[in-house]
Amino acid sequence: MALVVINYMSSISKSDFKNFFKYYKGEAQQEAGVEILFDQMRDVLKDDGHDWIQTYRSKAESSVSGHFTPDSTFDTKVTDNFTYSELTNGGEEARRFTSQDQCDVAVEICEFLEKARAKFGPIKITSGHRPPAINAAVGGASASEHLFAPGCGAVDAYPINGGGAEFESWCDANWPYSIGYGMSYRGFVHIGIRAGKPRVRWDY
Ligand SMILES: [Zn+2]
Repeated sequence: MALVVINYMSSISKSDFKNFFKYYKGEAQQEAGVEILFDQMRDVLKDDGHDWIQTYRSKAESSVSGHFTPDSTFDTKVTDNFTYSELTNGGEEARRFTSQDQCDVAVEICEFLEKARAKFGPIKITSGHRPPAINAAVGGASASEHLFAPGCGAVDAYPINGGGAEFESWCDANWPYSIGYGMSYRGFVHIGIRAGKPRVRWDY
């Protein structure tokens, strides 16, 4: 009997408990487990106005970065401080992304820009997505990362408040993929990713 009690009382931690929700994917066995939990819950916890339900919902609604897709409106935040508009030359329809993979690469780059922003202040993106026709028109390289071909993507950017040289050095030290050193000659740093994510460096 004692052994049974010990097993029964072995407790999960609060973080263990959170993980049940974090990794919930609506799988059949998960739903069955949640139903058991629901059946054991006191009625007060099932009150739609209960603190836990209100808190849980408010978090979801105030989440800053919504789901960013090719069809999102241009004012959609890619990350907290960078919008879809900034990646498309102010919101040009012709520069919309056409696949979710492109959006995901853009998020990865913008997450890096957020770190740069925390250190250097507002960051101006001078060029983001350039579909083939636009890339050709502006004389971009035929294999430019700005095309956002599968696994690729890039932005050209500089810190609005100055400190461009420091920004370039910081990007060089902290971005493991593609960097084009353009601050001196072009007024921006090219920050990109190419397929397979190799480390690449070049001068303009
Ligand atoms: Zn570039």
